Amino acid sequence: MLFVTLSISNLQRKSLMLSVSDNPQKLIILDRDGVINKDSADYIKSVDEWLPINGSINAIVKLKQAGFKVAIATNQSGVGRGYYSESILSAMHKKLADLLAVFNVAVDYVAYCPHLPDANCACRKPRPGLLSEISEALSVDLCGAIMVGDSLRDLQAGITLGCQPVLVLTGKGQATLKQLKNNDIKSDIAASDIDVFDDLSEFVNHYLNINSV
Ligand SMILES: [Mg+2]
Ligand SMILES: [Zn+2]
Repeated sequence: MLFVTLSISNLQRKSLMLSVSDNPQKLIILDRDGVINKDSADYIKSVDEWLPINGSINAIVKLKQAGFKVAIATNQSGVGRGYYSESILSAMHKKLADLLAVFNVAVDYVAYCPHLPDANCACRKPRPGLLSEISEALSVDLCGAIMVGDSLRDLQAGITLGCQPVLVLTGKGQATLKQLKNNDIKSDIAASDIDVFDDLSEFVNHYLNINSV
């Protein structure tokens, strides 16, 4: 499999490249840890450790209210490592669902990879299997969809299937930005434009043309 690498030369910050009209299926795919909830180097192992990032719940609500489909694509190798079970993982996602239900909205689909990195599965990002799963489950084409992540592999998985990559600086985002800036990553397929935002909330306000403050 050929993985996409990204070129720093086109890295933009808060640019105006993104347009809702370029996303005909109105699909937004989110990484979970470091995008929706706070990440930890020790993994998020329990419902109590699953804590939303400021503004992220509200951002998902705004996307849903604007008629977007919102899906989650998340690597959860902690399951394969035995740090937490799939039922605990479901309970974390129930916590998210409960927070959204207050606003009468729901995430359309959650795709997760429970495998260890060396399992060579087709779903662990940067491989695009989780995104294909979302495409099938929701019967939507991914072309033009937005992939929001805090790690390079999120963006790579998205670009592989024609999604527009968005980097947020929460979670591992700052480190990812540094990685993109420091490394002279050569491009296998095509240099891609990446939009960079402080967090999910800032991205959504920008994308939906909502004036913040
Ligand atoms: Mg992440
Ligand atoms: Zn997997």
